[in-house]
Amino acid sequence: MREIVHVQGGQCGNQIGAKFWEVVCAEHGIDSTGRYQGDSELQLERINVYYNEASCGRFVPRAVLMDLEPGAGNNWAKGHYTEGAELIDSVLDVVRKESENCDCLQGFQVCHSLGGGTGSGMGTLLISKIREEYPDRTMLTFSVFPSPKVSDTVVEPYNATLSVHQLVENADECMVLDNEALYDICFRTLKLTTPSFGDLNHLISATMSGVTCCLRFPGQLNSDLRKLAVNLIPFPRLHFFMVGFSPLTSRGSQQYRALTVPELTQQMWDAKNMMCAADPRHGRYLTASAVFRGKMSTKEVDEQIINVQNKNSSYFVEWIPNNVKSTVCDIPPSGLKMASTFIGNSTSIQEMFRRVSEQFTAMFRRKAFLHWYTGEGMDEMEFTEAESNMNDLVSEYQQYQDATAEDEEFEEYEEYEEEA
Ligand code: GDP
Repeated sequence: MREIVHVQGGQCGNQIGAKFWEVVCAEHGIDSTGRYQGDSELQLERINVYYNEASCGRFVPRAVLMDLEPGAGNNWAKGHYTEGAELIDSVLDVVRKESENCDCLQGFQVCHSLGGGTGSGMGTLLISKIREEYPDRTMLTFSVFPSPKVSDTVVEPYNATLSVHQLVENADECMVLDNEALYDICFRTLKLTTPSFGDLNHLISATMSGVTCCLRFPGQLNSDLRKLAVNLIPFPRLHFFMVGFSPLTSRGSQQYRALTVPELTQQMWDAKNMMCAADPRHGRYLTASAVFRGKMSTKEVDEQIINVQNKNSSYFVEWIPNNVKSTVCDIPPSGLKMASTFIGNSTSIQEMFRRVSEQFTAMFRRKAFLHWYTGEGMDEMEFTEAESNMNDLVSEYQQYQDATAEDEEFEEYEEYEEEA
């Protein structure tokens, strides 16, 4: 068995984590008391990936819940260096206990926001501590990026940039959940005039279910965290993924008809269905992977995916042949006949990093709000380093976006990277 230890931290992390477990329990036929009430062997075949089996035959989510008293005040430094740091050892004890109970731990997943203090600061502290203790296990994050459309705390770009600085180094794969895109989907596509966190989180839980589907049900593609990384990450720092989902539905609404495979395919590649405010047509795909769910013809899925690649070949780097993988999982998400999830490693994600970086720089240039951080003992230098690390990330995406198969400059860049 290849178990995953789930951790959720902070307000956002705990809210999306709770929704994740609701959805996953429903898909695996686990009721609120942990009893199995399902109707298919497939629901239990890989249940140990996410659940412990208690002696009474109940299934218990392998989940660690972490939070601070509401006092981290959206201050990354409090989560990372002061209040969070005081508590981190007791969290690590719980994580260690869960890990030791595993037969063959594959890795960890962390749900958190990057804009606040706890999920962001303490979350990345925990990630770095786990990396130290379990260097050969995979670290997956579901990271919610801040947007002024959704939140009114001005220092969020600081917290997010400091977090990205950590995630570049200490996480293996990050699923980007961008509140800006989630808000736009709710407002423009689902026609919700005042989207709430509940509405945003409905999209997030559907996406998380889709992304983890291959880990939870039997199948071939991306069946564990390592394989997911191998397929999607051509360069270790570029591990921030755009995720798309189709069909998009609002909370409590019913899909009135099942979509066809071509419709699902068309929608899941559409910029409007991406949970990240970046347009894939402004960049190129290094890699991508698609999971279709429900009863459908594998042959039709393969044809549709090839069709997308052929029609849009300029949007895929030609120097990674066969960089799109697809698979079908028989079990659809609850309430739908068919669905699809898309995970893409697109150079266009730099648009989102640029957005946060601009907001960061506007304030940092004047050292605005810095005293809240230096007051917790932080050095200004860490801000400068975080800023340049994110800018480097943006340049790296740009380099590979511009690279062609016979590009000399590109080769030089490769050499330079090897030397560095
Ligand atoms: P923490 O408790 O200190 O980790 O702080 P929060 O998780 O509240 O972090 C604030 C950031 O998370 C802001 O960018 C909020 O917009 C966002 N946020 C808070 N709660 C939610 C939620 O339930 N869903 C989503 N999508 N974003 C949230």
